[in-house]
Amino acid sequence: MAIGRDLTLRAGTTRRQFLTWSALVGALAFTPQLRPGTARAQSVVPPDYPFRLGVASGDPLPDSVVLWTRLATDPFAPQGGLTPGVVPVRWQIANDDRFADVAQEGVDLATEFDGWSLHIDVKGLDAGREYFYRFLVGPHSSPVGRTKTAPALGASLAQLDFAWASCQKWEDGFFGAHGDIASSNLDVVFFLGDYIYEYAIKDEGARAGEKRPESANRETMVLGDYRDRYAMYKADANLAAAHASAPWISTFDDHEVDNNWASQISQDTDDPREFLLRRADAFKAWWENTPVRGDLRPKGPEMKVYRRFGFGDLVDFSVLDTRQYRSDQAHGDGEHFQDGETADPSRTITGAEQEKWILDGFSSPSTWNFLAHQTVISDLAEGLDGNRTVGMDPWSGYEASRHRILDGARDRGATNVASIVGDIHRTIVSELRRDYQDQVSPVVGVEIATTSIASGKDGADVDSTGAAIAAGSPHVKYGNARRGYLRGRLTPSEWRSEVRVLGEVSRPGAAVRTATTVTVPEGRPEIQVR
Ligand code: FE
Ligand code: CA
Repeated sequence: MAIGRDLTLRAGTTRRQFLTWSALVGALAFTPQLRPGTARAQSVVPPDYPFRLGVASGDPLPDSVVLWTRLATDPFAPQGGLTPGVVPVRWQIANDDRFADVAQEGVDLATEFDGWSLHIDVKGLDAGREYFYRFLVGPHSSPVGRTKTAPALGASLAQLDFAWASCQKWEDGFFGAHGDIASSNLDVVFFLGDYIYEYAIKDEGARAGEKRPESANRETMVLGDYRDRYAMYKADANLAAAHASAPWISTFDDHEVDNNWASQISQDTDDPREFLLRRADAFKAWWENTPVRGDLRPKGPEMKVYRRFGFGDLVDFSVLDTRQYRSDQAHGDGEHFQDGETADPSRTITGAEQEKWILDGFSSPSTWNFLAHQTVISDLAEGLDGNRTVGMDPWSGYEASRHRILDGARDRGATNVASIVGDIHRTIVSELRRDYQDQVSPVVGVEIATTSIASGKDGADVDSTGAAIAAGSPHVKYGNARRGYLRGRLTPSEWRSEVRVLGEVSRPGAAVRTATTVTVPEGRPEIQVR
């Protein structure tokens, strides 16, 4: 698709771009906060370099991938330093990183309505192929990103290299783990929640003195504050490099909105109407800053993020949302013993509609069925017998959901069920069982929780919580409380995972090493740690 050098509504403009333009002109005409005449001052080319928040790609399909950027000449200034108006942005996707062989190109419009973000859904690509992409504005060229499409569905696939990561509390440390992801030549990266943290940030700790927006002084509550927070994170060079290195598949957990929120209920149980307004702003900022398709764009406080990705005949990943549709945490949240309330079948962590969709996914013909999501399905009990307590926020507080999902997987004959999660700021490898106090309950799969990128500061191989979990949870086969991420290789015969950890995140440049390797054979949920 070739497009003329200047962006005008003439021959060569695609229908999709025409619709975008029409919608935009309509929006300009009826948006009261815009100065009259803005609609005529159509295009504004920023004089300064506008790609300071990097580039990203995501949600790979066999024929399509999303290309993302968000313009900012001065990321922590109002409007990212841009002048209200319309910025025409050219994008290119090529077969080579020097753009000698451009496969497709086009022009789209960045506007203040979407925080100057772009989500280009490039279609008609070849399956299972590496591509390179960039954006151009006036004389400015963005960094070059590398991406890959998924192999054709059902096609024989010998290997998939992927990573999963979560929990990157900026003020707790440096993102060296992302630098390691960036140099791992991966097919896809899963980000499973807590991309930002909403708390006010004190100018102390590992990143004391590092530049930050004025709004970092307060908890994020409104769209502008959430946008600033994403800009602050995306200014990190390691995070930007990880985004540019491979397509990401992203979902959110609690901190993209508010700690431990559930459905319409905030941590501090604010008026639900006020919380939904906040949730709408938080979702809008998440969508603007994440390489996902336009059809995930939130409608007010609602955003359908659960979706499925297949890679050949090897695996499909069901990406979940266990925040938006869940029942309130049992026993007022925190740690508690399990009882009639945690097992109440009227309670849910997925909502009924998503639960049915998850169960349908277990009928897929792929060799492996992965759930890529937020919080652990396994009980991480810290005591035995009389004083056994578990978290009320993860699935241990929603036992009936666990029963329905794991029973459903078994009933459908799914033999290679895996769960990849984050949230707990420690690596935990465990058996998936329907019930954990009944040790004859069969093992139906394997769960590997990734530690945090930075949340929790340096950590240690073994800490007191890890020791308590090891003592209280015989189904847990490995634990490590250092920072890092998980790097996996999936084949038709096994799922092999490297626990990548850093000695410290309190200083930049710390080495990343493999603490241990975990292998699960095809056909049997047996955990081998070495
Ligand atoms: Fe977290
Ligand atoms: Ca979390």
